[in-house]
Amino acid sequence: MSMLRCEVCGYVQTKEAMGQKCPACGAPGKAIKSYTLAMSPQRYRLLSWKIHPILVHFPSVFTILALVFVVLRFGAPLQWLPFLDAGLRWTMGSLPLFALLSFFTGRMDAQARFKKLSSQHLRRKIQVGITLFLLSLVGAWQVLASETISLWLLPLAFAMNLCTGLLGRLGGELNCAFVIDTPNKKDKRTNKESTT
Ligand SMILES: [Zn+2]
Repeated sequence: MSMLRCEVCGYVQTKEAMGQKCPACGAPGKAIKSYTLAMSPQRYRLLSWKIHPILVHFPSVFTILALVFVVLRFGAPLQWLPFLDAGLRWTMGSLPLFALLSFFTGRMDAQARFKKLSSQHLRRKIQVGITLFLLSLVGAWQVLASETISLWLLPLAFAMNLCTGLLGRLGGELNCAFVIDTPNKKDKRTNKESTT
């Protein structure tokens, strides 16, 4: 698939979308070279929707909010409790749905990018994703099925934030694989040497 690639940061984009400067790092037009992406247009289109990177923000924000609500709850004035409990029920109650949506779109995204899901990072991401989903089920069950908010929601919210943090980190590790799928490492090195 014929594309353009920024030699400075490795950003790959279609000719129409690249423009005069690299939209990712701002490098001038002379840094932008033609590039053949080792990927079918169908796979590229699926990835260009960025469904997974957009969707993952929902469980990430909700796990942070759940932790904030649960921390505030154990020291807040009595009149705040209905508000905090409602917030906790909304965030923790909807988390399994967003965790599940993120999991399946992530799986779809990974299959389009890497074809197989057996690499070390992907296996770990799947394991942590399943852990987050199971924890979110426990949390949702607690806030929706019970009248009282239990103290153990605090370690649970901590653990869920740990999972989303780890998932973000693993996602960041995998991000680079999209642009370095052809052997351009050597070109990059010679470019660096000539500029320094
Ligand atoms: Zn760039």
